[in-house]
Amino acid sequence: MAEASDASGGPAAADALPPLTAVDTAATADVAVVGAGIVGVSIALTLAERDALRGAARRIVVLDREGLAAGASRGNAGAFAFSDIEPLASPGIVRRVPRWLLDPLGPLALRPAYLPRIAPWLWRFWRASGPERFAAGTAALAALNRLAAEATSRLLAAAGATSMWHENGNLHLYESEAEWRASLPGWDKRAGHGIAFEHVHGAAAIARWQPGLSPALVAATFVPRWATIDDPLVLVRRIAAAAAGRGVHLRRAAVQALVPAPEAVVVLAAGGARLHARQVVVAAGAWSHGLARSLGEHVPLETERGYNTTLPPGAFELKRQLTFPGHGFVVTPIAGGVRIGGAVELAGLHAPPDFARSDALLAKARRFLPGLRAEGGTRWMGMRPSLPDSLPAIGAARDDARVLYAFGHGHLGLTQSAATAELVADLAEGRAPALDLRPFSPQRFG
Ligand SMILES: Cc1cc2nc3c(=O)[nH]c(=O)nc-3n(C[C@H](O)[C@H](O)[C@H](O)COP(=O)(O)OP(=O)(O)OC[C@H]3O[C@@H](n4cnc5c(N)ncnc54)[C@H](O)[C@@H]3O)c2cc1C
Repeated sequence: MAEASDASGGPAAADALPPLTAVDTAATADVAVVGAGIVGVSIALTLAERDALRGAARRIVVLDREGLAAGASRGNAGAFAFSDIEPLASPGIVRRVPRWLLDPLGPLALRPAYLPRIAPWLWRFWRASGPERFAAGTAALAALNRLAAEATSRLLAAAGATSMWHENGNLHLYESEAEWRASLPGWDKRAGHGIAFEHVHGAAAIARWQPGLSPALVAATFVPRWATIDDPLVLVRRIAAAAAGRGVHLRRAAVQALVPAPEAVVVLAAGGARLHARQVVVAAGAWSHGLARSLGEHVPLETERGYNTTLPPGAFELKRQLTFPGHGFVVTPIAGGVRIGGAVELAGLHAPPDFARSDALLAKARRFLPGLRAEGGTRWMGMRPSLPDSLPAIGAARDDARVLYAFGHGHLGLTQSAATAELVADLAEGRAPALDLRPFSPQRFG
């Protein structure tokens, strides 16, 4: 089986970027965006679109050390999960963790050697899981996801990518009535935030939404406003192409540090290149905290690594995305085939991938989708950029308002990318953002 990960191989030819040259660095950039994942390219296109509307032309440069979508944006599950408004750090989660950890290939894994490194993050995660902070986090995510639903249609239209979007809904599937009942408080909370859904009971009723499932699945909840994209990598390419069409420069450069100077922020790249920028946006996914550190700021960013397998066309006739909440994985129609995966592994940025996790999720999927043809797949590992309270960091650096942070979107970076882009564009232009950004303050952890 083929393999790929955030940490392996160079970009495909289609995603290669020209290197940053002396010509690029000769002029000061108005905005330098570090990172060409879904968040970085969405920000670049949104800035360029706003310029086009008002007849202005900022010099916008996007820098990525590898190429387009070299991180989590390359192989994710492609879902716009606007109804996912509950932070992972939730009351009661700490009681469930030991059971998950007992299964070495279960929905959550922690590599023992990494425990000392991640202990401070886990402490903050635990503190964020109390009822009050959980309620505040839920309200903040609901507001962000509401904005995201509107902003995504604007971004897709600007990128000419609307036809890639499929609002076919999602089916959350349960193996017992007890498991379904345990999910009800979460659904009640979503109802309180205006999210529509419908409960479904019995294998025959479920089969009307998705034929071919195991009769062991006895209850489900259908969420109509959930959407998927044909292929998240192709979406990044489309957005980047639209940005380039609007004059955005996309360049290859590994940014090593940001150095504030009186006239500009100096973006120091490997090999000694220096780009002077009036504003810098840090959208470097799970690697963003290194750049914050170069400004003397500690942001507790970690990675929740995730795994999947993409099967070729014909693997299963899938009507819509399926979620298996009890097992921490989803099954998604992607790129004409089927992508199966999820799970969380806490092992940092440098440990090699453990593709037995992709295989374990595929084996589970075969149990629930008995007709699944599991041959010919490609296994992938990606690094979700995660803050302890499951909310992204959107806001200015502590000591320099010319540097804006846009990272830490965890499980929902694709979902929230267009909203983040509009919020960052507002901040960059000195306008009041559409949302109260205090819950997303990069400085909220002290
Ligand atoms: C298995 C899995 C499934 C997922 N499914 C979904 C889903 O269905 N829906 C959803 O909303 N989210 C999903 N996510 C989460 C989503 O993929 C991420 O939140 C999102 O892709 C993060 O985007 P990003 O642009 O912030 O970071 P990334 O996509 O990681 O991009 C960061 C970029 O920055 C570059 N970079 C890093 N450091 C530097 C540097 N120093 N200099 C220059 N460039 C640098 C990297 O090369 C990379 O290209 C999933 C994640 C995983 C792992």
